[in-house]
Amino acid sequence: HPVMVWFRSDLRIHDNTALAAATRQGPVVAVFLRSLPHWQRHGHGANKLDFWGRGVAALAESLEDLGIPLLHRDIDDFDEAPATLLTIARETGARSLHFNREYPVDELSRDAAVIEAFDAAGLTAQGHHDAVAFAPGELRTGKGDYYGVFTPFARAWHRALTPARISLHDTPPPQARPSIASDPLPELPALADSPIDGRQWPAGEGPAADRLERFLRFRARHYAAQRDFPAIRRTSELSPYLALGMISHRQCLQAVLADNDGALAEGDAGLSAWVNELVWREFYRHVAVGFPRVCRHRPFQRHTERLAWRDDETGFAAWCQGRTGYPLVDAAMRQLVATGWMHNRLRMVTAMFLAKHLLIDWRHGEAFFLRHLVDGEFCANNGGWQWAASTGTDAAPYFRLFNPTTQATRFDPTGHFIAEWLPELAELPTKARHAPSIDLRRKVDYPPPIVDHRAARARALEAFKALNDD
Ligand code: FAD
Repeated sequence: HPVMVWFRSDLRIHDNTALAAATRQGPVVAVFLRSLPHWQRHGHGANKLDFWGRGVAALAESLEDLGIPLLHRDIDDFDEAPATLLTIARETGARSLHFNREYPVDELSRDAAVIEAFDAAGLTAQGHHDAVAFAPGELRTGKGDYYGVFTPFARAWHRALTPARISLHDTPPPQARPSIASDPLPELPALADSPIDGRQWPAGEGPAADRLERFLRFRARHYAAQRDFPAIRRTSELSPYLALGMISHRQCLQAVLADNDGALAEGDAGLSAWVNELVWREFYRHVAVGFPRVCRHRPFQRHTERLAWRDDETGFAAWCQGRTGYPLVDAAMRQLVATGWMHNRLRMVTAMFLAKHLLIDWRHGEAFFLRHLVDGEFCANNGGWQWAASTGTDAAPYFRLFNPTTQATRFDPTGHFIAEWLPELAELPTKARHAPSIDLRRKVDYPPPIVDHRAARARALEAFKALNDD
C-alpha cells in the first residue's frame, strides 16, 4: 500500500519528519490541499499565497526526481480536508497518512478532525512535531504551566536540548514510481490584490539553502552588532522560507553548530544571537497552543481587553500608506508594501507607532501585516504585535513608546534606509531626513507628523493607566 504524506507549510524533501517516517513504511504519494478561500478568509494575502504556490511547484519538481507523485486538490474550507483526504486514500489504496503539525487553533482542529475521520475509516493518520525542537507542552515552568515569558523559556530550551532533538532526518532515496499520476498544478487565480514580483523571493529549497549559506558566510559574524540597522542587510532574510518550511530550523541549527565549534548558546556572538531568534520562533508556537485565546483575536494579557482603542480611519490609512510624517515609519511601511518583507527593528517601530502613538487596535495592524508579508505566519506575527501593543507575553511595558525620530537617528544614522524608500527625502541632508522641518516638508511634498510624539505618548499612557484604575 502506498503511504500518503500531506504537505502544508513544510515544502521540502530534506529533513522532513513526516516524509522520512512515511518513507520507512512504503512507497509515498504526496498530497497538497490548496485552501485558498479559507486562507484568504484568515487574512493571508496575495504575496504569501503566490510564494506558497511557487513553493509547491518547486516541491513537485523535487518529488518528481524521487519518483513521488503529487496530488493537488483545491478545497474551500478546512472542513473539507477529512473527506478529501479519505477520497484520495480510497483512490490510491493508501492506508496511512503522515503530516507535520501546524500550531494555530484552526489548523489543530482541522488536523484533529482528519485523525478522527481516518480512525473511523480504519486507517491511520499521524501528526509529527517537525517545526519545533520541543512539542508545545513539553517545556513547562516549575508550576507546570506553559511559559509566558521568553527568557526562562529559552533557558529551558537550551537546557533540555539533546543532539537527537535537532538531528537531521534522511532524505528519501528515489522510489519505484507507483502507477499514480501527478496532478497538473493549477495557476494562482486572480486575487483582490496582485502579488509583488516573485523574483524578489525565488521559492524552493535551493534558494533557501543559498540564503542560509550567504548569511553564514557574509552576515552572521556581524549579526549581533548590526542586526538592528535596516540599511545594512545583516539578517538572514530566511523568514519566508522558514514560514513555509522550504528550510527547517534543524538545518539552520546544524549549520550554526558546524560554524560555531559545536555550540548554540555560546561561541560567536552573532551566531548565538541568531539562534536566539530561532528560539523566539519556537516560543510563539508554544504560546499559541498553551494560550489559544491569542488565536481567537484576544490579548494574552486579559486586562488589556478593556483598552479604549481609538477609531481613526484617517490615521490607519496614513500608517498603511506610509504617510504618517515620521520618515522611519513611512519608509518601513513602504518597504513592506513593495517587498512583502520588513526588517525586524522596523516591525517593532511601526507596530508600536500604530498601537501606541495612534492608539489604534493592534489587530488592524496584525491583519495588514499578514495581508502583505511573504513570511506572514500567525504565531510570530501575533506574538510580535502583542509585544508591541503591550498586550502580549513578555510584552513591552505599557509605558514604553519608541520615539520614532530617535529610532531613526539611532538605527538609520546615515538616513540611507529612509532615502531608499522615501525618494522625496533623498535629496535632503542626513539630519533633515530623520525629521524634516515644516518648510522642507512643504518643498518636497512630504506630510507633517500626524501626531505629536509627546502628546501621543501622554494619551497612550493615560489609556493604559485607566486599565489599572478600575
Ligand atoms: P533573522 O534575524 O535572520 O532571524 C532568523 C529567523 O528567526 C527568522 O527568519 C524567523 O523565522 C525567526 N525570528 C526572528 N525574529 C523573530 C521573532 N521576533 N519572533 C519569531 N520568530 C523570529 N516573523 C515571521 O516569520 N512572520 C511574521 O509574520 C512576523 N511578523 C512579525 C510582526 C511583528 C510586529 C514583529 C515585531 C515581528 C514579526 N516577525 C515575524 C518576527 C521578525 O520580525 C521576522 O521573523 C524577521 O524580521 C525576519 O527576518 P530574517 O529572516 O532576516 O530574520
